[in-house]
Amino acid sequence: MGEKKAKGKIRINRERCKGCQLCMLVCPSRRIRTDKSLNLKGYAPACFNENVPEGEKGCTGCAQCATVCPEVAIEVYRAK
Ligand code: SF4
Ligand code: SF4
Repeated sequence: MGEKKAKGKIRINRERCKGCQLCMLVCPSRRIRTDKSLNLKGYAPACFNENVPEGEKGCTGCAQCATVCPEVAIEVYRAK
C-alpha cells in the first residue's frame, strides 16, 4: 500500500459556512465537497475530504480555500 502523506489539511467551521461552494471551486486538489447534512442555519456546508483515493492529490496546504471563503470558515494547517 503506497500511502501518500498529505502536506496540509484544513478545518472547516461548518456552522460558519453558508454553502457558497467557492472553496470547492478553487481547490486545485478537489478536496472539498458538500456535506449531506445541513448545519443549524440550514445550509449544506463544505466538508473536507480527507481520504485521498489512489492517483489523486491530497491537500497541499495552499490555503486558496481559506483565502476565498467569504465567511472565514476555513483554517489551514501545514505539515512541518
Ligand atoms: S489548502 Fe489548498 S489544497 Fe488544501 S483544501 Fe484548501 S484549496 Fe484545497
Ligand atoms: S467558501 Fe466558505 S462559506 Fe463558502 S462553501 Fe466554502 S467554507 Fe462554506
